[in-house]
Amino acid sequence: MIDKASQTTRDAIAAGFPLLIGGRETPGHAGRTMASTDPATGEVIAEFALGDAEDVGEAVAAAKAAFHGPWSRLSNMQRADLLRSLSRKIAENAVLLAELEVLDNGMPRMLADQIVGNCVHLFEYYAGWAERIEGTTTEAPPHVLAQGEALTYTLREPVGVVGLIVPWNVPLSMACLKLAPALAAGCTTVLKPAEETPLSAVVLGRLIKEAGFPDGVVNVVNGLGAEAGAALVAHPDLSKIAFTGSTEVGKMIARECTDSLKKVSLELGGKSPVVVFPDVDLAKAIPGVAMATFFLQGQNCMAGTRIFVHRDIYEPLLAGLAEFTANMQMGHGLEAGTMLGPLVSAKQQQRVMEYVEDGKSCGARLIVGGEAWQGPGNFVRPTIFADVDPSMRIVREEIFGPVMAVQPFDTDDLDEIAAMANDSPYGLSGSVWTRDLSNAHRMVSRIRSGHVSINCHGAVASNIPFGGYKQSGWGREFGREGMDLYLETKAVTVAL
Ligand code: NAD
Repeated sequence: MIDKASQTTRDAIAAGFPLLIGGRETPGHAGRTMASTDPATGEVIAEFALGDAEDVGEAVAAAKAAFHGPWSRLSNMQRADLLRSLSRKIAENAVLLAELEVLDNGMPRMLADQIVGNCVHLFEYYAGWAERIEGTTTEAPPHVLAQGEALTYTLREPVGVVGLIVPWNVPLSMACLKLAPALAAGCTTVLKPAEETPLSAVVLGRLIKEAGFPDGVVNVVNGLGAEAGAALVAHPDLSKIAFTGSTEVGKMIARECTDSLKKVSLELGGKSPVVVFPDVDLAKAIPGVAMATFFLQGQNCMAGTRIFVHRDIYEPLLAGLAEFTANMQMGHGLEAGTMLGPLVSAKQQQRVMEYVEDGKSCGARLIVGGEAWQGPGNFVRPTIFADVDPSMRIVREEIFGPVMAVQPFDTDDLDEIAAMANDSPYGLSGSVWTRDLSNAHRMVSRIRSGHVSINCHGAVASNIPFGGYKQSGWGREFGREGMDLYLETKAVTVAL
């Protein structure tokens, strides 16, 4: 399928995927490589350099030198200009970045285009926040005032050198949503992409250099989680780790950072509820609910995978979901009309199929799907289970694949419905579907999640804070809150 990509993308693949450290392209001190494969075909796309603890050490040293050197001398306005210049570079290279995402991750091209567009906007958006970094003034303490005139003011300063560790499900977007606020705040960074999807980060790193960022401000070290990732987390010169990934690894990172008290922000797993009331507009709810689960083949932390439907519309909604799902075009992301691609790896396919078999064996009613797609690639047919009960693993655990679990409710008591929706260790996203907006808002206030939508699902954008309650994470990315993750507050008192 690489031959279906543009000449620019084929040239970029031929240029290789080294580590980017201190403005240099390097194969890494051990010269190790790993293959990145197209999950829709199994074809090797490219070998990429695999960094280890020593490479991470060099990258942190480069980031530290940049933090104390040229980067610290730029004004907020100058950093904003660089962010805007990067935004333009991403726009100019949109086809290349989108095609790499499709080849490396498997996502449909339509979606990759949208994601690259979001990244263009993200750097524009955070350029605006770089220009708006400001402190406050307040009264000086009484014992200082007792000696004469005085004032206290606050400065917002960058946290320092930060390690950014991201997953494979939306690789470019995950990298940009950490880099944009970190750079706007004045931090320097070491980015560790997921080993399953290493490619777009290297191209992004090259664009960052072309955009005029000083060497060492952004370093890209591809590598294994247990090696490069763990080395980054353990490095004493980092002030913070910003992590997106599984709850399991997130907890490990939080524990590891306790000794040094590095700051940590965590965007973790989810198992989000979708609550459908009987007065809903079915024509809108059917595609909306289906895509809440199947967007990105369900490899999506905010996926709405626990569907609660009022008994009055339970069977009509199930019938509509089954018809919509059966008509979703599955295939290679570069083929026109593809709505569903493969899962990222054979390992992920196997993991998802284990959940599907578990759902079948514990008595859930299989409505549609329930099998892997025969042929090359890591495809799993979108699967809907009905009549599930809350003790089943397909209801309790994050599957990170195209598996929906639907259950009916008979009550009109919102507290009872909320108790079902909140019966999860996660609290990332969720949605409520009804024509009755009063009921919708009452329901939203009862759902323990960081991000809830009404008559739509997963409405994320640069300006909308996103993050988890409960075991879905610490902190909020995007929006103004996204800046707070990368800024310290310094209080200064002046006796005049
Ligand atoms: P993962 O936790 O296995 O890996 C994520 C990243 O952490 C990768 O770069 C990996 O190399 C690295 N890593 C692994 N072990 C490490 C270690 N010991 N030390 C340091 N780094 C390590 O997760 P995944 O399987 O790649 O991604 C899927 C998970 O990510 C899902 O649980 C999903 O919900 C979550 N996710 C959350 C969000 C969000 O915003 N909340 C977004 C996307 C994905």
